[in-house]
Amino acid sequence: MATKLPSVPVLIVGMGWMGGILSAELTKQGVKVVALERGKPRQMEDYYMVHDELRYFFRYEMMQDLSKETITFRNTEKMTAVPMREFGSFLMGEGLGGAGVHWNGQTLRFLPYDFEIYTKTVERYGKRKIPEGMTIQDWGITYDELEPYFDKFEKMAGISGDPEENPLIGRRSSPLPTKPMIRTPALKRFEEAAKKLGYHPYMMPSANLSENYTNPDGITRAACQYCGFCERYGCEYGAKADPVVTVIPVAQQTGNLELRSYSNVTQVLHDGKKARGVLYTNTITGEQFEQPADVVILAGYVFTNVKLLLVSNIGKKYDPATGKGVIGKNYAYQTGGGSAVGFFDDEEFNLYAGAGSLGMEVPDFNGDNFDHTDVNFIHGSGIRISQTGFRPIATNSTPAGTKQWGKAFKQASIKYANRVLTVAQQGSSMPWRHHYMDLDPTYKDVYGLPLLRITFDFEEQDRQLVKFMAAKTKEIMQEMGPTSIGSNDQLGPYNIVPYQSTHNTGGAIMGADPSTSAVNSYLQMWDMENLFVVGASAFPHNSGYNPTCTVGALAYRAAEGIAKYLKQGSGLVL
Ligand SMILES: Cc1cc2nc3c(=O)[nH]c(=O)nc-3n(C[C@H](O)[C@H](O)[C@H](O)COP(=O)(O)OP(=O)(O)OC[C@H]3O[C@@H](n4cnc5c(N)ncnc54)[C@H](O)[C@@H]3O)c2cc1C
Ligand code: SF4
Repeated sequence: MATKLPSVPVLIVGMGWMGGILSAELTKQGVKVVALERGKPRQMEDYYMVHDELRYFFRYEMMQDLSKETITFRNTEKMTAVPMREFGSFLMGEGLGGAGVHWNGQTLRFLPYDFEIYTKTVERYGKRKIPEGMTIQDWGITYDELEPYFDKFEKMAGISGDPEENPLIGRRSSPLPTKPMIRTPALKRFEEAAKKLGYHPYMMPSANLSENYTNPDGITRAACQYCGFCERYGCEYGAKADPVVTVIPVAQQTGNLELRSYSNVTQVLHDGKKARGVLYTNTITGEQFEQPADVVILAGYVFTNVKLLLVSNIGKKYDPATGKGVIGKNYAYQTGGGSAVGFFDDEEFNLYAGAGSLGMEVPDFNGDNFDHTDVNFIHGSGIRISQTGFRPIATNSTPAGTKQWGKAFKQASIKYANRVLTVAQQGSSMPWRHHYMDLDPTYKDVYGLPLLRITFDFEEQDRQLVKFMAAKTKEIMQEMGPTSIGSNDQLGPYNIVPYQSTHNTGGAIMGADPSTSAVNSYLQMWDMENLFVVGASAFPHNSGYNPTCTVGALAYRAAEGIAKYLKQGSGLVL
């Protein structure tokens, strides 16, 4: 029997970037907020001198406990899905700050093309360019409408970079708040090669601060030390923008945030029209609580957001047979592969130094930045070099043909530790009618609820894209002058075992039409006006850039929508 608690004005499920931004924006306006986070509390001091690869990289210290909650996966509807029992393709975060603590910080805005992908594709190439079964749709908001919120996110996080270097982006209202990070010899080599080929390389916009910075909320953070233990680790200097050192303290200082850790939400309570609150379990004591609220915000990442909607029976469930319904629709990922690895026998690049978003990006082949008339795919990829820091256990690249064990491997691994550069592509991912999320009929979580099931595979569109991009990455690498190159332009079926990226999207998508989308452009549920679903679950497709800048912008817009809703008292926010 759940203990019923006194009602609160706003309740947030999950305290990653989304929960953090929403709690800061609402509490600053005097709104009382209760936030429920299933994981533990965290602070910057937790990371002093803990560059422990076993603990953080291989044993996933910062990630969700898969013995309690996971997803099931299958490539096609004909298969039986099985649970992901070990981390592989993606790494869901847990604890205060969520995955925002162990992310890299690569902070790129999606392109204007992304937000109007259907309209712009048809305008330029005609309807026949969109293959049967590909369910791309416009987002119900334009890039220009979202621009002020991108700007807010970047200023809050102190993003480093110089947009002037990149002519292939949307309109901006202001420059980035801090200068670009250091151009290392490896990055310069990439830049020279890409420029020789006529491309437009630019320093990757970075949430690892290039210099000390004080943001508009008065939060001061120190510059990055290029320690190289960034992705999958917390930052001991606070140089990496994460929710724990930026937005959450702002919310806490207002006195209007009550944060409850170890609180796992299992259900959204509602009467069919409005959310009444949530049911949650204290993960330490096992006690159950009912927390009533006037407004409920789901900010638990794509998988939790979609699962809570499905288990709580909210919105119309997506049916791949008819293409009707919206909850679970348009799951998308990103398309990896196609990188070119260069081995430089006679040069060293000091690759032990690095940062999560120290890199350069070529924008020429992303979105609709190039003519797609003669290719069999739409959209594209960001092409990039990253210097994230080679770590002694995790990084062991050796040329093709090297034995993967024993003396020969050790010698090659030591020799190449500082002599391997990779030009990679990060491919967009289009939605398809038969890529979706629903509830697994067999497997359950520790609370007895069905696991979320993902049905997804790579398509011919993805194979064509990787083939095209592999030629580009190889071309750039050749120009960089390595001794030998390893590359592969083939893309097999999607395999959930190796790590690829934690850029999952869709399932509660935004749009202008309630029959084809779950939420409006303020991420307010069409079917339940006091329920807001915030995160990349709102993306109708995924781009060739990292998602968090765009999700962050949407969270700022959602915060504005929630404030409007609280003021008007009822109805959809326009
Ligand atoms: C290794 C790695 C590197 C990345 N690098 C980049 C990058 O360079 N650039 C980029 O743009 N993106 C990157 N990302 C993605 C980025 O981290 C996410 O886009 C972002 O953190 C999502 O924020 P969120 O608030 O939606 O979700 P999360 O950060 O996942 O936060 C959700 C929170 O909700 C909590 N929660 C979940 N379910 C429940 C529940 N039932 N009850 C209570 N609480 C719950 C979780 O514990 C978690 O704390 C990376 C991700 C990973 C894993
Ligand atoms: S590389 Fe920079 S931002 Fe990343 S953890 Fe190290 S000091 Fe922090």
